[in-house]
Amino acid sequence: MKLEHIGIAVKDIEASNKLFETLFNKPHYKIEAVESEGVKTSFFQVGESKIELLEATNPDSAIAKFIEKKGEGIHHLAFEVTDIDAEIERLSNEGFQLIHQTPKDGADNKRIAFLHPKSTNGVLVELCQDKG
Ligand code: ZN
Repeated sequence: MKLEHIGIAVKDIEASNKLFETLFNKPHYKIEAVESEGVKTSFFQVGESKIELLEATNPDSAIAKFIEKKGEGIHHLAFEVTDIDAEIERLSNEGFQLIHQTPKDGADNKRIAFLHPKSTNGVLVELCQDKG
């Protein structure tokens, strides 16, 4: 596994894009809405990893609820795997609680699945596999 990206929940993705563009001294390379999740995302390449900004597009989305409860900040860590189905099975057998038993489509051309933070020391973990 490698750290593919860090997801950060933000209230205003336009304002945050400007902030992170200044921080990294380069523009984001992609903006993408994931309708099924009710989020708008933008991505920055930072060395080997990426930063994913997430803004809620509707009040029922997980990001809206996260911000309501905890405020803006780090939302999840995403690790790239080569075979997400095999990893889901392995981790499930190891006793990890999966939010998604089967992978679903995520942003940035990936299949993704989340582990429940209850089983990972309070850290929301995303597994992702490039669709190629
Ligand atoms: Zn992510």
